[in-house]
Amino acid sequence: MRILLTSEQLAEGIAQLADRVRNDIGRRPLTVVGVLTGSIVLVSDLIRRLEGPVRVSMVWASSYRGTATTPGRLDLRLDQLPDLTGQEVLLVDDIFDTGRTLEALVDELRRRGAARVRSLVLLRKHGQAEVGIVPDFVGFDIPAAFVVGYGLDFNGAWRHLPYVAELEPADLQAAPTEIANSAPDMDGILH
Ligand code: 5GP
Ligand code: MG
Repeated sequence: MRILLTSEQLAEGIAQLADRVRNDIGRRPLTVVGVLTGSIVLVSDLIRRLEGPVRVSMVWASSYRGTATTPGRLDLRLDQLPDLTGQEVLLVDDIFDTGRTLEALVDELRRRGAARVRSLVLLRKHGQAEVGIVPDFVGFDIPAAFVVGYGLDFNGAWRHLPYVAELEPADLQAAPTEIANSAPDMDGILH
């Protein structure tokens, strides 16, 4: 595993994202809609930096593809959403890869009557986009590698890492339980 973004870099990036969101939206009430499961860590850090009125809801999306490459069918579950009519909405996801997840969710939130839907992603992969939309706020542009940590998993492992790391071939060959157990020691990284 190779660390791409340390927890310090992530904290700095998220503080900047929160400032950019408030500069853009002002103090108007904001409904943050996070995408489960990968955005849990991002949402929890981001909302604590957003001043002014905020409410939070989560939707679930999966295009899960195991390792890295071909996205599968997109499953969406939006049954926990509050009424969005006339609301200022910020959709928050972990990573923009092909963009299909974000595109489908932005369309769906618009259909539900939101006044405006802005989108925010922590990471955007270089050269992978297959859709017309671009996220309104991007934390970090990264190379087209498979990454884990800070909410992002590989077969369920590694979401809890406080940094973002790129998987190396040896990580991908290991079984998921071995993978989970072989995560680098987090002493000295957590604070
Ligand atoms: P998209 O629809 O943009 O192709 O894919 C977005 C979703 O795919 C993300 O929300 C995330 O769940 C998953 N994904 C895409 N790239 C990666 C990656 O490098 N690592 C992990 N763990 N998930 C990814
Ligand atoms: Mg996701």
